[in-house]
Amino acid sequence: MERPILKPISEQILDPTLADPLIIAGPCALESRQQLRSCVQHLKEMGISLIRASLWKPRTQPGWEGLGWMSLPLLLEETLSHGLIPATEILSAEHAQMVVTALEQYGSSAKMLVWIGSRNQNHIEQQKIASILARGHTGIWLMCKNQMWECEKHWIGISEHILSAGFPRERLLLCHRGFSPGKWPNPQGYRNLPDFEMAMRVKAKTGLKMLIDPSHIGGSPDNVVEICRQAVGYDVDGYIVEMHAAPEKAKTDAKQQLSPDQMQQLLEMIRGVSV
Ligand code: PEP
Ligand code: MN
Repeated sequence: MERPILKPISEQILDPTLADPLIIAGPCALESRQQLRSCVQHLKEMGISLIRASLWKPRTQPGWEGLGWMSLPLLLEETLSHGLIPATEILSAEHAQMVVTALEQYGSSAKMLVWIGSRNQNHIEQQKIASILARGHTGIWLMCKNQMWECEKHWIGISEHILSAGFPRERLLLCHRGFSPGKWPNPQGYRNLPDFEMAMRVKAKTGLKMLIDPSHIGGSPDNVVEICRQAVGYDVDGYIVEMHAAPEKAKTDAKQQLSPDQMQQLLEMIRGVSV
């Protein structure tokens, strides 16, 4: 039996790619039901329909790795029932299969976005994930972030691997989250260095929508705002921004998550300029 979705689904929810710009906001990681509920309320007030909250967290050094598969039903229940679309990072084909199976419980109209993060861009896993998702629930969008190192050819190659494994182009999005700074000058202290020109070339060459992740580029609330100020000057299709009701208490990426007030201000800036 299909689980009911309680709220009517808006046009934008039927196809998130119709939103312009597409805004995804929410915590770096799902931490608790309470945390998610509070974030859902804030986003509803802001008119944002895609909520990020990762279940599996890749870590630079050993640490808390997220709540994992056991909280997948929690993520779906607390978002879909409010008419929001959940978005989470998947690190493996196993995660992809779990998402497909879990979303099926919510019926054919349920939507979800999953993404492959920067640290995990190898073609074997990309192809496995793409082919599982291609055969699975048609409400799943896939977003691919750029790899950690700066290389346009590799970045375009990611989308080619995904498409060659059969994932439909209409449900594929790209996301620029900057490249590891390495030895480049970095006077603003960004966490990762953006290359908006390259992002626009990749968008043009692949024909795919390009989102910006100012949180993992900027690394601090001030820098997140500054990166968005730069990004609105380009033809970007959306933003994925980390927001936490109490950023200082966040279990991951506490330094860069925006408070709801900061998110609201950012939204006004983005919407004001992009319209
Ligand atoms: C994230 O979005 O939380 C994340 C880990 O991002 P990235 O893959 O860009 O490091
Ligand atoms: Mn993060």
